Amino acid sequence: MQYHLDTIPVWEAMEWKSECPLCSLEHKTELEEIDRTLGASVMEPDVRVRFNERGACRRHQQMLFNGPNKLGHALLMDSHAKERLAALQKLQAATKARKNIKVRWFGRDDTTETTAAQLKRLTDRCVVCEAMDTHMARYLTTFLHLWKTSADFRAVWKDSKGVCLPHLQQLLETARGTLSAHEQNEFAFEALDFLTRRLADDERDLSWFTQKYDYRNQAQPWGESKTAVERTVNCLRGWCVGTEPYTAPK
Ligand SMILES: [Zn+2]
Ligand SMILES: [Zn+2]
Repeated sequence: MQYHLDTIPVWEAMEWKSECPLCSLEHKTELEEIDRTLGASVMEPDVRVRFNERGACRRHQQMLFNGPNKLGHALLMDSHAKERLAALQKLQAATKARKNIKVRWFGRDDTTETTAAQLKRLTDRCVVCEAMDTHMARYLTTFLHLWKTSADFRAVWKDSKGVCLPHLQQLLETARGTLSAHEQNEFAFEALDFLTRRLADDERDLSWFTQKYDYRNQAQPWGESKTAVERTVNCLRGWCVGTEPYTAPK
């Protein structure tokens, strides 16, 4: 897929000097998408149609619910619920029609499986996740393009903390279509070097964190260990706990 490469968001993310620039950028994108979903676009018919069809996953539903636009969220949910109610009623009618048709010859009735598959389609999409996937695919490509072509970016990258494990996986997946085999290997080596050194530090701090619960270590200083659990979780799974990696300006 060809993208117009807007390098500014990736440069900005590097300047935040967070634990993972892509986690920061992902969270910024997420906050913007929540704002957009609840903003003026609530009244746009195509936005309503997209939300009606997809709805939102649990995480994004929570963020929409906790957002400032209570009426906007209620309007979205009202038309989404109407759409889902119609779909469920249709499903119920189909189930009722099949109720008495047992598959006697084969000894089993696959109605439940069919209904389960249809219910899955009503719960497995998210309007925010889908928008974020599109943005993040572009940012991953841009990140690798900058690494490949910009000496300034390489200097900032070398001075950074690298990226978390899931974002490294995504970068390397993207690199297959962006970098030569030699470049892929070089990038993988650099990023794994960051990641292993960082995880070794986090694990050492985490180990000390657990030892601090031993009464014999009570008087010893915490050192860097107080944030070790959050740092380790976020390093291995991408940011999901502790201080947000990006906060919108007030
Ligand atoms: Zn990350
Ligand atoms: Zn989602």
